[in-house]
Amino acid sequence: MENNQNITPVIDIHNLDHSFGQGELRKQVLFDINLEINRGEIVLMTGPSGSGKTTLLTLVSGLRSPQSGSCKILGKELCGASSAKLVQARRNNGYIFQAHNLHHSLTASQNVQMGLEVHGKYSQREMRDRAIAILEEVGLADRVDYYPDSLSGGQKQRIAIARALVAHPAIVLADEPTAALDSKSGRDVVNIMQRLAKEQGSTILLVTHDDRILDIADRIVHMEDGKLVNNSVKQKVF
Ligand code: ADP
Repeated sequence: MENNQNITPVIDIHNLDHSFGQGELRKQVLFDINLEINRGEIVLMTGPSGSGKTTLLTLVSGLRSPQSGSCKILGKELCGASSAKLVQARRNNGYIFQAHNLHHSLTASQNVQMGLEVHGKYSQREMRDRAIAILEEVGLADRVDYYPDSLSGGQKQRIAIARALVAHPAIVLADEPTAALDSKSGRDVVNIMQRLAKEQGSTILLVTHDDRILDIADRIVHMEDGKLVNNSVKQKVF
């Protein structure tokens, strides 16, 4: 019999709505979102600015609490979940932001170690060894003790990828990871993310405006005005 984990979607969203603000200021930004993503899939989310992509990503990540509908991540319901449950859910994710969000006062390896510190189960020595190993994998073996400000945009984004993936997350969420990178660096960082995630069996949901990387996707979903208007295998809507 097949393992249940392999057939249940890793991300399983049904009839999800989301609003910001209260009372008269309340504004609904997501409408009836339905999205299922299976283990190992790479899904790109496209759509104009303000269409709700980042909001959806933060709900899936557990950074924000989903309000109504169903948002099951690895079989756990996040709608109505306690803050403690959301914190727990965040541990299954590696989140890569567009501005790479690195700590400028920490070296590359110290930044990567932060991806392990949240788990609270590794010794300092083990964290450093793992950080160095993954920095080698992303091509930064000779930059482990450099500070982010002395590195290029592409190198900083590789550190962010290393930090997101060092704990082998089940789900990798990335928000515009290639923004501000030139064509070659953009493809490089996505290729690295794709390779590591595939090796680790991670599922990737990636927000992008970048039509140069559409071909890495198993599926492309498109948002318009808070609605998922296209959700079919390999249909490019650019
Ligand atoms: P995208 O990522 O597609 O650019 P967002 O998810 O960032 O879109 O935004 C969707 C809508 O939600 C926009 O109208 C935006 O102004 C609004 N929004 C996003 N975050 C907040 C917030 N924290 N408070 C209020 N409105 C927000």
